[in-house]
Amino acid sequence: MEVLHHPSPVLKGQASEVDPGTDSGLRELVRVMAETMYAEDGVGLAAPQIGVSKRVIVFDVDENLAALCNPVIAEYGEEKAVEEEGCLSVPGIQVPVERSVRVVCTGQTIEGRDVTIEAEYLLARVLQHETDHLNGVLILDRAPAELRKSLVRAYNEANGL
Ligand SMILES: [Zn+2]
Repeated sequence: MEVLHHPSPVLKGQASEVDPGTDSGLRELVRVMAETMYAEDGVGLAAPQIGVSKRVIVFDVDENLAALCNPVIAEYGEEKAVEEEGCLSVPGIQVPVERSVRVVCTGQTIEGRDVTIEAEYLLARVLQHETDHLNGVLILDRAPAELRKSLVRAYNEANGL
C-alpha cells in the first residue's frame, strides 16, 4: 500500500473509532498496515496514512509487531524531551518535536481486549506520534513556531510542491 503524503486531506481528519472484536476487517487492515510500515522502514504507522480514516495504529520498536485500536494517551509524564522526528507522510525533513518521555497509553487489541501500555523513550514517542495521526496532527504542526516556516519551505522543496 502506498503511504499518503502531506498535504493529503485524509491526514488532516479526525479518524473514526473502531469496534475491535466485532469488526472482522481489522485483521486485514493491520496486516496491510504492518506490511506497508516494514516496506517503508518505519517504526510506526497509523491507518489514515494509507487512506483509512480509522483509529488503528501499528508499531514495532523492539522487533515485536504490535497493533492498537482506539489508542488514547491516558497519562503524559511530566518530563519532556525534544528529539528529531521523521514521518513517512512528511518525507524529506526531520522536525524537532517536544514530547513526554513517559506515557500511559490505553486501547484495545483487534480481538477487543483492553490493554494498557506504560511506555518510555522511543516507544512513548512513537505512541504519541501515531496517536497524533488519528487526530489529524502531523510533525509540522508540532514544530517549534520559529522553525515552522523554514521546515514547511524545506518540505515543499524536497517534494516539488
Ligand atoms: Zn507519522
